[in-house]
Amino acid sequence: MEAAGSDSTIDLDRAGNKPRALIDPFARAITYLRVSVTDRCDFRCVYCMSEHMSFLPKADLLSLEELDRLCSAFIAKGVVKLRLTGGEPLVRRGIMTLVSSLSRHLASGALKELTVTTNGSQLEKYASELKGHGVERINVSLDTLDPEKFRAITRWGDLGKVLAGIDAAQAAGLKVKINAVALKGVNEDEIAGLMQWAHGRGMDLTVIEVMPLGDIEESRLDQYLPLSLVRARLAERFTLEDIDYRTGGPARYVRVKETGGRLGFITPLTHNFCESCNRVRITCTGTLYMCLGQDDAADLRSPLRASESDAALHAAIDEAIARKPKGHDFVIDRRRQAPAVGRHMSVTGG
Ligand code: SAM
Ligand code: SF4
Repeated sequence: MEAAGSDSTIDLDRAGNKPRALIDPFARAITYLRVSVTDRCDFRCVYCMSEHMSFLPKADLLSLEELDRLCSAFIAKGVVKLRLTGGEPLVRRGIMTLVSSLSRHLASGALKELTVTTNGSQLEKYASELKGHGVERINVSLDTLDPEKFRAITRWGDLGKVLAGIDAAQAAGLKVKINAVALKGVNEDEIAGLMQWAHGRGMDLTVIEVMPLGDIEESRLDQYLPLSLVRARLAERFTLEDIDYRTGGPARYVRVKETGGRLGFITPLTHNFCESCNRVRITCTGTLYMCLGQDDAADLRSPLRASESDAALHAAIDEAIARKPKGHDFVIDRRRQAPAVGRHMSVTGG
């Protein structure tokens, strides 16, 4: 099994100072890093992947040790929140070695939060280990509570396993948030039920609009359900009270009076959420994407591998952040057949 780094790799500059913090051209401080640790997955969700995806050769992937070093460089530069995602992060071999080694930054106080976004299929196995390494909260993606619909959406998934995973996570003391993609004609009649179920178990629910990322077999126009409609329908049955709760992310939250729970809406297409963006993403090959909805990227694998010192890596990160764009240009419309961005969500990480 690969071993992830255990020493702190935070380099000081020549004057002995910590590396420069990450501030982009629009004065946004970059404090949140999402890391796709693998592009592979044990599901094939219809909005995320085509059924016959080709994946990266394993040799192209950063080792766990390199992922640790890359994450540590960002933490040295002021990142305080780190999310492991994918593909399915919990199918990456040895993933707990990485979680365990990254937890030293929680212990030192440099990192405030280490979290995971997962489809839940492996949670039964890993929930208590995650908690043991200092993970407090996780996001589990779940679009339906109907086993057949679940199978149709994920193509390969088993709802029972995911529900057992959520049970295990809650039993281990992890705080769970459910993420559901709103899909026209598929789960639109179920969102109220999903919300009542989640709130009944003390979990927040966030509903997400389909984003045009990567070629899939179906048309995104057929899947796209504007959340303005979801919200209007929920408002007919529930009292939705706007609240200030923010997680530093793009979700806007309401409190549902009848359930007492929180409901979030992520609406990249109907509202622009970019002005407060604090995040960047790296892929499992060490490519840094400054925006989920743009193609510009920076290769961090070369500077990472070029030298044992982190100086070149820090310089490459600074240069990339200086190019972070103001926002995305997502569009789903009939004239534009191709996806706005060619890479799949599983590459950049959700
Ligand atoms: N496999 C993990 C999971 O499903 O939670 C982590 C990676 S997945 C790419 C992260 C999130 O992105 C999931 O909540 C998924 O539903 C969402 N997602 C994937 N493709 C999407 C798309 N085209 N539009 C909107 N959300 C998408
Ligand atoms: Fe896999 Fe997550 Fe994409 Fe579904 S959304 S195919 S679980 S990466």
